[in-house]
Amino acid sequence: MTRVARRGVCFVISAPSGAGKSTIANALRAGDSSLVHSVSVTTRAPRPGEKDGVHYHFRSLEQFRTMADEGALLEWAEVFGRGYGTPRAPVEAALASGRDMVFDIDWQGHRLLRSALPDDVVSLFVLPPSMKELDRRLRSRASDDAAEIDRRMAAALNEISHWSEFDHVLINEELDTAVREAHAILLASRLRTRRQTGLVELMKEYGAA
Ligand code: 5GP
Repeated sequence: MTRVARRGVCFVISAPSGAGKSTIANALRAGDSSLVHSVSVTTRAPRPGEKDGVHYHFRSLEQFRTMADEGALLEWAEVFGRGYGTPRAPVEAALASGRDMVFDIDWQGHRLLRSALPDDVVSLFVLPPSMKELDRRLRSRASDDAAEIDRRMAAALNEISHWSEFDHVLINEELDTAVREAHAILLASRLRTRRQTGLVELMKEYGAA
């Protein structure tokens, strides 16, 4: 099979909390073992079941600030009063070796990542079917207390107001359909002409360079 060398895709998935972006990102990775998850750094405490180095790198505010000051974070933002950021080194390594990465980050992270890597970011915004359904999903999560749920509900409206900054938007009404749609976006992004850096070599063979 002819493999054309290419740069990896930075596939950013953003959504209001509770719209299902983590579930979609997990399903994408489960169906495609070459996909790498960008493990963010956060200053928030782990939720039950969350593992350091798998779901997040859990760090103190001081450690987080040191990483930001030293340029070890490609982007960082304060979300719900806590620091969240993307470690730089794994992203640069993945892109250079043609591996695609999925980023579960907010609209601020998307803006910053897009300006840091303008040719590599492909973004998707996931909407809930309705605000009523979003409220129901947030309340059915056992992990957050009531005050946290209210804060996240207010933040959801703010997050949604940035929908038009994204390349793609889908409504997560039915999970299988949403995952298929997200996968289609990723597949198409891999085939972008500009991304396939090895095409020039191949075209020399074809006599069409
Ligand atoms: P949670 O605490 O529910 O895991 O995440 C809260 C919010 O922080 C989500 O909107 C998530 O997308 C965002 N987030 C997670 N990691 C990062 C990151 O590295 N950078 C930015 N900007 N946002 C992040």
